[in-house]
Amino acid sequence: MVLVHGCFWHAHDGCPRHTIPKTREEWWRAKIARNKERDAEVRAALEALGWTVFVVWECEVKSAGKLDELARTIKAAPSRRG
Ligand SMILES: [Zn+2]
Repeated sequence: MVLVHGCFWHAHDGCPRHTIPKTREEWWRAKIARNKERDAEVRAALEALGWTVFVVWECEVKSAGKLDELARTIKAAPSRRG
């Protein structure tokens, strides 16, 4: 399964699209932190169901090189579903 994460909402570390707004900064930090926790929970739940989870970031979607890399990674991943 491939999840596409928005860089802002899912807190892409080190990405220029992931910036915390200066107004209500603490509220935003808590909101984004909750999103990250939820991402981890969703990923764990999917993996528990037997899915192999890949994440592609919003900023990578337009990069042919990144998408090629993702395709290679998916092809190389062992199948967990037999
Ligand atoms: Zn990004």
